[in-house]
Amino acid sequence: MVDLQGQYQKIKDKVDIQLQEVLNSSAYINGPQVHAFQKDLEAYLDVKHVIPCANGTDALQIAMMGLDLKPGDEVITADFTFAATVEVIALLNLTPVLVDVEKDTFNMDIDALKKAITPKTKAIVPVHLFGQCANMEAVLEIAKEYDLFVIEDTAQAIGANYTFKDGSKKKAGTIGNVGTTSFFPSKNLGCYGDGGAIFTNDDDLAHTIRGMVNHGMYKRYYHDVVGVNSRLDSLQAAVLRVKLPLLNDYCDARRKAARFYNNAFKNAQNIVTPKMSNGCEFICDNCDCHVFHQYTLQILNGQRNELHQHLLDNGIPNAIYYPVPLHSQKAYADERYKEEDFKVTNELINTVISLPMHTELDEEQLEFITTTIINFIK
Ligand SMILES: *Cc1c(COP(=O)(O)O)cnc(C)c1O
Repeated sequence: MVDLQGQYQKIKDKVDIQLQEVLNSSAYINGPQVHAFQKDLEAYLDVKHVIPCANGTDALQIAMMGLDLKPGDEVITADFTFAATVEVIALLNLTPVLVDVEKDTFNMDIDALKKAITPKTKAIVPVHLFGQCANMEAVLEIAKEYDLFVIEDTAQAIGANYTFKDGSKKKAGTIGNVGTTSFFPSKNLGCYGDGGAIFTNDDDLAHTIRGMVNHGMYKRYYHDVVGVNSRLDSLQAAVLRVKLPLLNDYCDARRKAARFYNNAFKNAQNIVTPKMSNGCEFICDNCDCHVFHQYTLQILNGQRNELHQHLLDNGIPNAIYYPVPLHSQKAYADERYKEEDFKVTNELINTVISLPMHTELDEEQLEFITTTIINFIK
């Protein structure tokens, strides 16, 4: 699904020098690389504050802690995503409220979101799934109307742009009150271990969160709030400093592969290619909105499981993201949920299949993958 080794070989010289520098300095924790990466990422995202932390799940948890949400407050998020988002809501004794997604974009459905709002709702967590933003203009309108916080889970969409109706653009994760991301190795901006970050333009929230990631300390050994210990280490920051300047090229490489896939499947029966939420039918040459963390097809004729096996038999990696909707997971089941409210997720779990998607795919590989699929699906 990914080719981390191939990508490393191309940047090995730079990465090795940076790693050696950390080893020579022994500043493994909070070394100068961490601060420098924070500044680099603030500039890249055009956001006032980046707070690095240990992973993307911590980032979500700490963002919610920073907003001072209280047990019983309802937090709305998407049913069709990785479990981290709903996990931290539950861990903080907040009440998760899952909503259905849009069939075309896999992102939070706005009508479902509106329907889920109650007087107890305090926050919305749109997940920018598979690399493109949820409908943020609609999310922001609703948040404003009901006075809700917006926490963007940007673990899969760092580098994606969101274009507003007036033509202005913002980077994914910098649109709501706070955004979070993950630097897990297979993410679009991955380090060589675990890592994460929180972004915000809110000075007070940034100050609160900076203390929270560090045991609730604002002055050394004075603990004002209950915090956590969540740090990005210097070795990972050193890797990320080398990779961040390449992120736009990495996004382009993914879009190029997506364009090849889209083209190949253009006339195929029963294969639905991913839709762009900005309405464009195809990924244009200067597209900057989708960063294709995953390239996910919908197989409409019931052959999805067979295709999954057929591709494996032919040595083609592929994955089902996600096989079980969150509302059906043992840990998150709740009698409030009604199956008819999750029509789209319940369908997607049977139709989606994600293909190899990374920065090192070449045309020969793409050709082999696409012809194998086209010859199999009837
Ligand atoms: C990967 C991911 C996370 C969690 O990131 P970790 O760094 O693995 O903790 C959270 N949300 C989404 C949508 C993800 O894809």
